[in-house]
Amino acid sequence: MLSSVIIGGGPGGLGPILWAAQRGLLPTWLDRGVAVVERQAHLGGTLGRFGIKSDSLGGSYLECLEAAGLPPELKPLRDEPLAHEMAQYRDSFPPLVLVDDYMRRIGTALAAMLAERSALHLSTEARAIHLRRDGSVEVGITGPDGRESVLAACSAVVALGGRQRWMHGELKPGLALANCQMRHVMPSDRALSTAGLNEADQILAEAGRRPILILGGSHSAYSVAGAFLELPGAERLAKGQIVILQRREPRIFYPDQQAALDDLYDVAPGDVCPRTQRVNRMGGLRGFGREMWRQIAERPRTTPEPRVVTMDMQRLSTAGLVAMIAEAALVVPSFGYRSVMLPVFDAGGARLALNAELGGVAVGEQSRLLLSDGTSVPNLFGIGLGTGYKLPSSMGGEPNFDGQANSLWLYHNDIGAIIYRAIHELMHQPTAAVAA
Ligand SMILES: Cc1cc2nc3c(=O)[nH]c(=O)nc-3n(C[C@H](O)[C@H](O)[C@H](O)COP(=O)(O)OP(=O)(O)OC[C@H]3O[C@@H](n4cnc5c(N)ncnc54)[C@H](O)[C@@H]3O)c2cc1C
Repeated sequence: MLSSVIIGGGPGGLGPILWAAQRGLLPTWLDRGVAVVERQAHLGGTLGRFGIKSDSLGGSYLECLEAAGLPPELKPLRDEPLAHEMAQYRDSFPPLVLVDDYMRRIGTALAAMLAERSALHLSTEARAIHLRRDGSVEVGITGPDGRESVLAACSAVVALGGRQRWMHGELKPGLALANCQMRHVMPSDRALSTAGLNEADQILAEAGRRPILILGGSHSAYSVAGAFLELPGAERLAKGQIVILQRREPRIFYPDQQAALDDLYDVAPGDVCPRTQRVNRMGGLRGFGREMWRQIAERPRTTPEPRVVTMDMQRLSTAGLVAMIAEAALVVPSFGYRSVMLPVFDAGGARLALNAELGGVAVGEQSRLLLSDGTSVPNLFGIGLGTGYKLPSSMGGEPNFDGQANSLWLYHNDIGAIIYRAIHELMHQPTAAVAA
């Protein structure tokens, strides 16, 4: 039986593998049996569809190849052109297309290792997970030829990326976008994609005096505003025509308290990460979204950006909000992500109610999949976009952080480590105990 099936070969799914690779633990783990199941024909994920820059520094992507324990199969990647290109962004923000190429290159090298020493299922769709009475799991898959089969393992890691639930989320009590009239609506996931930006360009150019309404106040919302302003269609937008309608002010990342002070940003004691002294390390806006906020908020050494304003959604009446949405040339709901899940069945064949399927966070302690009753499944894990893993205080992060930590660096380091260790603890338990 395999040690684990990793379902989804994006940056999240590769997290525990890359963590192990950095510490010289990967070859032994592969020899114990790890299968990766991925719908696409390659490993590395889907970031290349976005037409924007990363909000993580290039250096954070290079770290995983710089580790001393890297296996010989991965070491040559350090000297390849993609790593050199990424190194040019060590202290700046690379385009996501480059991050995607880089992750795919790592994915190709890992795919070769998996295929040689363990198991790799590309162009394969995972369908469902079945828990077995002996504590093992079975993952039902459909291969490229349409043939169905089952992978049996001690554990499974669900890493299928995220999706946006924007139609039915409540904007005000009893009001969802599904009940609103809109001329054009484009969720942020689409708006930030290359195709979505082209579409938005056209809409902006023809907007006349109608507002462009961005709903939400975190990374995605500010990134959308920043990306729209770079479009040719935004040139003729009037003062205040892009409106970010938010429930609360975003938090902003600073490398230390002095940098925040220099930027006239008020730091609460709970905003500071005790491990790194960074301000809003987990939840703060970074990169382009952060610069957008700085321009709107007219921080020192920025050129103010009058075309974008922020408004507090709470101050609008329900009727006022409905009217504003109807008036807008384009509405961009930017409410973040929830993890994509697979149906999970217990040993008796009954479908389990996963917390993520009800709109809640996907995982609890040790990144184990949460059920709607608050318990977790001992040998099912979740990682990647939208999982909502709450970092324990030992990993640092600001005490005020109450959002989601969606970061490749975290998947390849702290969160990858948590899952790797939990999987290995399970392998040392008698199988029946896993089901207890
Ligand atoms: C616009 C945007 C910008 C971001 N920028 C950054 C950034 O700058 N820095 C950063 O650290 N993080 C960033 N993130 C957050 C996050 O780290 C990335 O989204 C990351 O790509 C998530 O990886 P993932 O593996 O969870 O998802 P994905 O990359 O989407 O991978 C999921 C994989 O699962 C596969 N899959 C799905 N369903 C099935 C199935 N049934 N069977 C088999 N395979 C399946 C998919 O094909 C895909 O390859 C950003 C997110 C967004 C949305």
